[in-house]
Amino acid sequence: MRLVIFGPPGSGKGTYSTRIAPVLKIARIATGDMFREEVKNNTQLGKLAAMYMNKGEFVPDDVTMKMFKERLKKPDTKNGFILDGFPRTIFQAKELDKITKIEVIINLIVPDEILIEKMSARRMCKNCGDIYNIADIKKNIDGVEYLLPPMLPKKKNVCDKCGGPLYQRDDDKPEVIKERLEVYKNQAAPVIEHYTGKIPFLDIHVTRGPEIMVGKILDEIKKFNLK
Ligand SMILES: [Zn+2]
Repeated sequence: MRLVIFGPPGSGKGTYSTRIAPVLKIARIATGDMFREEVKNNTQLGKLAAMYMNKGEFVPDDVTMKMFKERLKKPDTKNGFILDGFPRTIFQAKELDKITKIEVIINLIVPDEILIEKMSARRMCKNCGDIYNIADIKKNIDGVEYLLPPMLPKKKNVCDKCGGPLYQRDDDKPEVIKERLEVYKNQAAPVIEHYTGKIPFLDIHVTRGPEIMVGKILDEIKKFNLK
């Protein structure tokens, strides 16, 4: 089973791919994790990636592709994988086509208005990076009802996992979010176009919290009869 998950920042790609991968017994491959793993192991590719990340720049496509090829050799990918945050560019998509054939693209759809509200409410643990969300969204947009529950820590502003303090990242402030959404749209459009008509898209409107949406996504994937 070879899946890709697309969606704007804040749509929950990470949450969904993390939850559905173990159910489908496939590996979740996220570029961020891949980079961190290589950096941690101090590999040649890791050193190269770190150089760009430390400058706040994107890791170049050729470095990403090399890491991805290495990642695919790991045994946890034997039943397949779900890619999160990848491919991000046309170059990556074309390179990916040479290596493997993606079967389904899960395309998460969320209106900007909801994304901005949701992302502004993200709180991250300063120690361990665990993420919470204080927004309790109940909204009707164009006749569609959005009920997105918060993910609150047990104790206000304190991480459940490690007791660390929670804070709002600069990246999660509304002005920055709007900019990130624009960047995403410009980047994603050509990649989505590249796959349109070639690979089936499973459009998922994220109208409820993960508890409900995960089941829906899994039900929809079943319909494709993938191995
Ligand atoms: Zn923590």
